Amino acid sequence: MVIHMGLLDEARELSIYTAYNTNVDAIVYLKEETVQGLINEFGAETIQRRMEEYPRQINEPLDFVARLVHALKTGKPMEVPLINEELHMWFDSHFKYDVERMGGQAGIIANLLANLNFRKVLVYTPHLAKKQAAMFVNKPNLFYPVIEDGRLIFKHPYEAYRDGDPVKVNRIFEFRAGMTFKLGSETVTVPFSGRFIVSARFESIRIYTEPGLKPFLPEIGESVDGVILSGYQGIKPRYSDGKDANHYLREAKKDILLLKREKDVKVHLEFASIQNRELRKKVIYNLFPLVDSVGMDESEIAHVLNALGYSKLSDRIFTYNRIEDTVLGGKILIDEMNLEVLQIHTIYYIVYITHADNPLSEEKLRQSLGLATNLAAARASLGEIRSPEDFKVGLSVPYNERGEYVKLRFEEAKRRLRTKEYRVVIIPTRLVKNPVSTVGLGDTISAGAFTSYLALLRRKGEL
Ligand code: AMP
Repeated sequence: MVIHMGLLDEARELSIYTAYNTNVDAIVYLKEETVQGLINEFGAETIQRRMEEYPRQINEPLDFVARLVHALKTGKPMEVPLINEELHMWFDSHFKYDVERMGGQAGIIANLLANLNFRKVLVYTPHLAKKQAAMFVNKPNLFYPVIEDGRLIFKHPYEAYRDGDPVKVNRIFEFRAGMTFKLGSETVTVPFSGRFIVSARFESIRIYTEPGLKPFLPEIGESVDGVILSGYQGIKPRYSDGKDANHYLREAKKDILLLKREKDVKVHLEFASIQNRELRKKVIYNLFPLVDSVGMDESEIAHVLNALGYSKLSDRIFTYNRIEDTVLGGKILIDEMNLEVLQIHTIYYIVYITHADNPLSEEKLRQSLGLATNLAAARASLGEIRSPEDFKVGLSVPYNERGEYVKLRFEEAKRRLRTKEYRVVIIPTRLVKNPVSTVGLGDTISAGAFTSYLALLRRKGEL
């Protein structure tokens, strides 16, 4: 306990730059009357016909209603992209949002680190409308880079918003098991609690650094102790102005090289699932070799391995969730991409995989993962971390028992896995039984792991 608080205090000495993705999560707690109202408005038969077509994108309100009713019938959590920018008005006139909060990895991580009183948190997101800016916490250590008179200055995001910037609003419709409504002659009862996400995928939302800011990236890289980048899943294969994923990935590569130009600042990439396999492959091949650290969850490592051509191993991870396979996949990834450190989080355990020459001992790496799961447990218990004190709440959450068992099994398997060339460290997670919210827990684990990793490197004089 003392060790973890001490390590958090050391991590808080650091300054971090984080980019690119932010959005507004607008949450609706669905009521039976609302669902029934939509069905009456559009007509049961029309909806049923569209449900059979199973639209994969939302281009008109009926697509939304059909996919929503489908999700309610199955009780499965679903996410469907909204591609028609004009539907904002339709949604806003049909629903009252119960909660609006920060979404997007860069936004979530910036707020988390600012609330933990890190020395300096620099956050950059290419689109900063007033509504988006208002989602940032009001802390004096949180800054947004602005160019004024050809000079780089920093303001609180709320002082830096730009009228006319687009806002990415993800609408989240939460539903409860047992809700009932009538669809024509059929009475539907929702079998499981879950949520239906309408994610905004608009042409106008891009993942990039504005040309005016780009020349200042070396200065920013030099002024911080670490960089956390995320949001590449938002890149589209192609845009109507002729630009494509290759263009944005070339620019993303330049950003990383510019950040590292004056000082070899450590860069962590937080990976999120990318449906399009070609795009996923491009992100991996273009960016992984340039960064030092990567974080992801278990299904993402399976997707990554599939994109790299290891389809059998990938299938095994999807089907059996065996830790030996996850670790084997992790070794392949750090070797092929020559990463310094890879962190994979799952519901029951978190693992670091590094090469054997990593400056940190197994014990130190374990402390870093310990801090990460404490932080996630605190967030799961409280819904949000508002101050460094909140971290303590995580310390009273017990480690899950399944994780202990997984760890034991891994220690047994270690001999077979030829781990000499690698350092593999596993800890069980502290799992909250009834979490207030599960949004952003993965980002919290990765931010906690990477920043404490940096703090331990610094303690050794390696940063
Ligand atoms: P992601 O899949 O990236 O969103 O990450 C979710 C991670 O959050 C999981 O891998 C767990 O380690 C952690 N997590 C999920 N549920 C809980 C919970 N109830 N309490 C504590 N940690 C959790």
